[in-house]
Amino acid sequence: MAEDTYEEECDYLFKAVLIGDSAVGKSNLLSRFSKDEFRFDSKPTIGVEFAYRNVHVGDKIIKAQIWDTAGQERFRAITSSYYRGALGALLIYDITRRTTFDNIKKWLFELRDFANPETVVVLVGNKSDLRQSREVEEDEGKTLAESEGLYFLETSALENVNVEEAFLVMIGRIHEVVTQRIA
Ligand code: GDP
Repeated sequence: MAEDTYEEECDYLFKAVLIGDSAVGKSNLLSRFSKDEFRFDSKPTIGVEFAYRNVHVGDKIIKAQIWDTAGQERFRAITSSYYRGALGALLIYDITRRTTFDNIKKWLFELRDFANPETVVVLVGNKSDLRQSREVEEDEGKTLAESEGLYFLETSALENVNVEEAFLVMIGRIHEVVTQRIA
């Protein structure tokens, strides 16, 4: 799999969503993946935003449309339309804030309520660069992912560690699900 420019024609368009508590790093993971940028300030706007990136999987070009809550989770204002049609989700917590990990089950419940049962879910423990402030061990993430049947990775949007991998695991798996469905 390799990235490519976003203007080119694509074979498939997939929608995927980012979910998780406020300030876990959703926007920065997305800007890292779509534009290779990181922002230290918190985001200025409220409202759903999305970004695109084209990814090559085999001989196909997939345009991934990734939606970010852009702060709406703070007001518990995420609606079913956010999840509608999503074939993948990154379910994100902050390894330095245990509450964000504890809330993963709540997000998973909401996701399973609103999204398609085939939605590919990757559990992401973000901010792995903040080693001294870690409150959630990597094994805890792994164990939760195994028990819920999810993929799992720890990432750092700041240091650009595993960000590409997290999105590409999700996109590659979505591609498998879609091609199995139409085969
Ligand atoms: P969102 O509310 O989930 O979209 O979170 P943001 O992307 O706005 O990030 C919240 C805060 O965490 C911001 O101050 C970011 O700079 C910071 N942040 C995001 N990702 C990382 C990371 O991987 N490492 C560190 N150290 N800080 C991060």
